[in-house]
Amino acid sequence: MDESSKTPARRREFKKRKPNMKTLSCKDLGISECNFSAKAQTSEEAMKMATDHATHAHKDKIEEMGKAMNPEQMKAMMTSKIKDEA
Ligand SMILES: [Zn+2]
Repeated sequence: MDESSKTPARRREFKKRKPNMKTLSCKDLGISECNFSAKAQTSEEAMKMATDHATHAHKDKIEEMGKAMNPEQMKAMMTSKIKDEA
């Protein structure tokens, strides 16, 4: 009978963990020779970091990708590669 006397709402504790980090690595983008991995709290930030890195470090690759797809498609592709770090 003790069970039913507890307030149900209080039994489900809100999980207060640190927010998952979003990661986007060059390997995920098909650049296997690079160990760079962008890590941020939001997808947008991870995207920005990866883009900044790639435009400097992988100019050729980015140009090549730019020919195959438009910026929208590239963004969508990169977004799909973002992972949640456990
Ligand atoms: Zn890289």
